[in-house]
Amino acid sequence: MIEQQIIGESRTNCILSGDLGHPPGLRYDRAIRVEDPTLLRLTANGLHVSTGRQVFHSMEIINVGCPRCGAEQLWNRVEESVDEWDSGGSGIRTCGSCGAECALNDWQWDAPWGFGWLGFTFWNWLRSPGSSLPRSPNCWDIGWQCRAARSDARMSA
Ligand SMILES: [Zn+2]
Repeated sequence: MIEQQIIGESRTNCILSGDLGHPPGLRYDRAIRVEDPTLLRLTANGLHVSTGRQVFHSMEIINVGCPRCGAEQLWNRVEESVDEWDSGGSGIRTCGSCGAECALNDWQWDAPWGFGWLGFTFWNWLRSPGSSLPRSPNCWDIGWQCRAARSDARMSA
């Protein structure tokens, strides 16, 4: 992304956390499909790269369904598995309806959540109507499963 000028190389105070992020580069529009000139004037407009086990969530109330039978899962069971995964466990649970065994990334989340070790948070990059991150952009085609967790506050992939 640095080479393609989607983000700047130097990390600055451009995100809302105690860490530093990469500011938008001259060709940031390659990543979001729709140019948003106001993005460059915002205080929080950077890309934060996080590593380590982390839950990437949409900050929304969600429903979680079984990938095999579609049955909606009880939130308290899902929350338990999220807490277990976040504490270093597998987070694997069986569907209460058909018995399918699922890891957290296997469930059908109506607002995608992701469970992984590498995250990209794009602060305020998707504010314009029609903007979206490409499903599989060349700039981050890293050969691993990617999932986008979107919220009004931030975007993680
Ligand atoms: Zn099921």
